[in-house]
Amino acid sequence: MKKPLFIIAAALLTLNYACDNSKTTTESTGIKSEERESVGNPADVSADAGTFQIKHLDYNYDAFPEYIDAKTMEIHYSKHYLGYINNMNKELSAAGNTSDDIVDILSNLDMNNTALRNNAGGYYNHLLYFDLLSANPEKAPTGELAEKIDATFGSLDDLIDQLKDAGAKQFGSGWSWLVVKSDGSLAVTATPNQDNPLMPGAASESGTPILGIDVWEHAYYLKYQNKRPEYLDNFFQVLDWKQVEANYDAAVGQ
Ligand code: MN
Repeated sequence: MKKPLFIIAAALLTLNYACDNSKTTTESTGIKSEERESVGNPADVSADAGTFQIKHLDYNYDAFPEYIDAKTMEIHYSKHYLGYINNMNKELSAAGNTSDDIVDILSNLDMNNTALRNNAGGYYNHLLYFDLLSANPEKAPTGELAEKIDATFGSLDDLIDQLKDAGAKQFGSGWSWLVVKSDGSLAVTATPNQDNPLMPGAASESGTPILGIDVWEHAYYLKYQNKRPEYLDNFFQVLDWKQVEANYDAAVGQ
């Protein structure tokens, strides 16, 4: 009788070991697949037929995961930004607007047209935002913009502090901006929702945005949850000042 019991015990131990082993394998595979979370390709995203189309990214969603995670980038670009474009095209048709100049549309916007205001703002703001991000950013501006920043704000760090502060203090959803005013001077301002400083009376400082920081939760919540200031810190790790300079040159007509 002892021998069969021994065999059963040995068999149970083997089974137990096999189960544990397979459990470990499953768990480690699960963790690995989570780390390798698959995301789509931004080049596959296209807007519905309409006046405005989506501008493709020159980086992938996982270009800078330590600062902005790939899933956030994918949802932000392929759902939120795309949605604003498609809805804006519909609203422009409904309003009988034939202009294809987004700056002209926003500068002459009927602020009571809430649907167009939200979606045309959403289009312009995200066009600016996604162009500013880079995996290999220039960490400081040069030339005239650099000089003007020092003269206006004291230093680049002082400007960055003001931009972070404006973003952190914006209640609810909105944007923090660096704008070029009509007299060529620089100012920091903020707007709620998808408003921007081009829209009539939308910001305390009107002007042409050359840097915009999206502080909607959809821009950071998966990685940062309620820690908006941490997202604001890390935004400056992927902000390409070369693009801000190009925006400045365009704004002052150089
Ligand atoms: Mn956004």
